[in-house]
Amino acid sequence: MRMPIEERIESVADIRQWTDTIPFQYEYTAGVAGERFLRGLMDGKILAGYCPGCNESSLPARIYCVRCYGGITEYVEVEPVGKVRAVTSAKQDAFAFVTFKDVRGGLVHRLLDRARAGTEVVPRFRPRSERTGSILDLQGFESRR
Ligand SMILES: [Zn+2]
Repeated sequence: MRMPIEERIESVADIRQWTDTIPFQYEYTAGVAGERFLRGLMDGKILAGYCPGCNESSLPARIYCVRCYGGITEYVEVEPVGKVRAVTSAKQDAFAFVTFKDVRGGLVHRLLDRARAGTEVVPRFRPRSERTGSILDLQGFESRR
Protein backbone atom coordinates (compact mmCIF):
# COMPACT_ATOMS: atom_id res chain seq x y z
CA MET A 1 0.00 0.00 0.00
CA ARG A 2 1.29 3.46 -0.89
CA MET A 3 1.36 6.17 1.77
CA PRO A 4 -0.43 9.46 0.92
CA ILE A 5 2.80 11.39 1.07
CA GLU A 6 4.15 9.16 -1.61
CA GLU A 7 1.13 9.61 -3.90
CA ARG A 8 1.89 11.45 -7.06
CA ILE A 9 -0.68 12.92 -9.43
CA GLU A 10 0.51 12.28 -12.89
CA SER A 11 -2.42 13.87 -14.79
CA VAL A 12 -4.38 17.13 -14.12
CA ALA A 13 -7.55 15.24 -15.09
CA ASP A 14 -7.14 13.19 -11.92
CA ILE A 15 -7.69 16.24 -9.64
CA ARG A 16 -10.67 17.80 -11.39
CA GLN A 17 -13.29 15.68 -9.72
CA TRP A 18 -13.86 14.14 -6.34
CA THR A 19 -16.86 11.96 -5.78
CA ASP A 20 -18.10 11.41 -2.26
CA THR A 21 -20.91 12.43 0.06
CA ILE A 22 -20.89 14.74 3.09
CA PRO A 23 -23.86 14.30 5.45
CA PHE A 24 -24.97 17.91 6.01
CA GLN A 25 -28.36 18.76 7.44
CA TYR A 26 -29.91 22.21 7.28
CA GLU A 27 -32.68 23.75 9.30
CA TYR A 28 -34.03 27.09 8.20
CA THR A 29 -36.13 29.15 10.56
CA ALA A 30 -38.39 32.13 9.92
CA GLY A 31 -36.40 34.18 12.43
CA VAL A 32 -37.70 35.97 15.53
CA ALA A 33 -39.94 38.47 13.77
CA GLY A 34 -40.94 36.04 11.04
CA GLU A 35 -42.10 33.54 13.63
CA ARG A 36 -44.18 36.20 15.43
CA PHE A 37 -45.74 37.16 12.10
CA LEU A 38 -46.52 33.56 11.14
CA ARG A 39 -47.96 32.78 14.58
CA GLY A 40 -50.14 35.85 14.12
CA LEU A 41 -51.44 34.42 10.84
CA MET A 42 -52.30 31.20 12.69
CA ASP A 43 -54.45 33.37 14.98
CA GLY A 44 -56.03 35.12 11.99
CA LYS A 45 -54.07 38.34 12.55
CA ILE A 46 -51.61 40.33 10.49
CA LEU A 47 -48.88 41.52 12.87
CA ALA A 48 -46.62 44.48 12.19
CA GLY A 49 -43.47 45.33 14.12
CA TYR A 50 -43.89 48.39 16.34
CA CYS A 51 -41.04 50.79 17.13
CA PRO A 52 -41.77 52.83 20.29
CA GLY A 53 -38.96 55.27 19.43
CA CYS A 54 -40.57 56.21 16.12
CA ASN A 55 -44.12 55.42 17.25
CA GLU A 56 -44.46 53.58 13.97
CA SER A 57 -45.56 50.11 12.84
CA SER A 58 -44.05 48.43 9.82
CA LEU A 59 -44.48 45.42 7.56
CA PRO A 60 -42.98 42.97 6.96
CA ALA A 61 -42.35 42.48 10.68
CA ARG A 62 -38.65 42.76 11.54
CA ILE A 63 -36.53 42.73 14.68
CA TYR A 64 -35.24 46.23 13.97
CA CYS A 65 -36.82 49.48 12.89
CA VAL A 66 -36.10 50.42 9.28
CA ARG A 67 -36.17 54.09 10.23
CA CYS A 68 -33.99 54.33 13.41
CA TYR A 69 -32.49 50.78 13.51
CA GLY A 70 -33.71 50.42 17.09
CA GLY A 71 -34.73 46.95 18.25
CA ILE A 72 -38.34 45.90 17.82
CA THR A 73 -39.81 43.66 20.50
CA GLU A 74 -43.46 44.61 20.18
CA TYR A 75 -45.82 43.41 17.48
CA VAL A 76 -49.25 44.88 16.88
CA GLU A 77 -52.22 43.70 14.85
CA VAL A 78 -52.87 45.86 11.82
CA GLU A 79 -56.34 47.11 11.02
CA PRO A 80 -57.54 44.32 8.72
CA VAL A 81 -58.76 46.60 5.95
CA GLY A 82 -55.94 47.22 3.50
CA LYS A 83 -55.62 49.10 0.27
CA VAL A 84 -54.30 47.65 -2.98
CA ARG A 85 -51.40 49.80 -4.22
CA ALA A 86 -50.22 47.70 -7.14
CA VAL A 87 -51.31 44.57 -8.97
CA THR A 88 -49.43 42.15 -11.15
CA SER A 89 -50.23 38.75 -12.59
CA ALA A 90 -48.29 35.55 -13.10
CA LYS A 91 -49.97 32.76 -15.08
CA GLN A 92 -53.52 32.49 -13.68
CA ASP A 93 -52.77 34.23 -10.37
CA ALA A 94 -52.92 37.93 -9.53
CA PHE A 95 -50.76 39.41 -6.79
CA ALA A 96 -51.16 42.69 -4.99
CA PHE A 97 -49.06 44.95 -2.84
CA VAL A 98 -51.38 45.84 0.04
CA THR A 99 -50.81 48.61 2.57
CA PHE A 100 -52.55 49.20 5.91
CA LYS A 101 -53.59 52.32 7.78
CA ASP A 102 -50.74 53.85 9.84
CA VAL A 103 -48.29 51.09 8.84
CA ARG A 104 -45.05 51.66 6.91
CA GLY A 105 -44.53 49.11 4.13
CA GLY A 106 -47.04 46.40 3.34
CA LEU A 107 -47.50 42.85 2.12
CA VAL A 108 -47.44 41.18 -1.28
CA HIS A 109 -49.90 38.31 -1.53
CA ARG A 110 -52.49 36.72 -3.79
CA LEU A 111 -55.41 38.78 -4.94
CA LEU A 112 -58.48 36.56 -4.77
CA ASP A 113 -60.78 38.66 -6.92
CA ARG A 114 -60.59 41.44 -9.47
CA ALA A 115 -59.61 44.23 -7.07
CA ARG A 116 -57.57 47.02 -8.63
CA ALA A 117 -55.15 49.60 -7.32
CA GLY A 118 -57.04 51.76 -4.83
CA THR A 119 -59.54 49.04 -3.89
CA GLU A 120 -60.04 48.34 -0.18
CA VAL A 121 -59.38 44.68 0.58
CA VAL A 122 -59.60 42.35 3.55
CA PRO A 123 -57.56 39.23 4.28
CA ARG A 124 -59.05 35.79 3.82
CA PHE A 125 -57.55 33.14 6.10
CA ARG A 126 -57.73 29.37 5.81
CA PRO A 127 -60.05 27.68 8.30
CA ARG A 128 -58.31 27.64 11.69
CA SER A 129 -57.99 23.84 11.71
CA GLU A 130 -56.03 23.96 8.43
CA ARG A 131 -53.48 26.60 9.46
CA THR A 132 -49.89 25.43 9.79
CA GLY A 133 -47.84 28.57 10.49
CA SER A 134 -47.25 29.21 6.79
CA ILE A 135 -47.63 32.42 4.81
CA LEU A 136 -50.36 30.43 3.02
CA ASP A 137 -52.47 30.45 6.21
CA LEU A 138 -53.38 33.78 4.66
CA GLN A 139 -54.98 32.76 1.39
CA GLY A 140 -54.84 36.27 0.05
CA PHE A 141 -56.87 39.46 -0.12
CA GLU A 142 -60.34 40.08 -1.49
CA SER A 143 -62.41 43.19 -2.06
CA ARG A 144 -64.10 44.59 1.03
CA ARG A 145 -67.88 44.25 0.82
ZN1 LIG B 1 -37.69 53.40 14.95
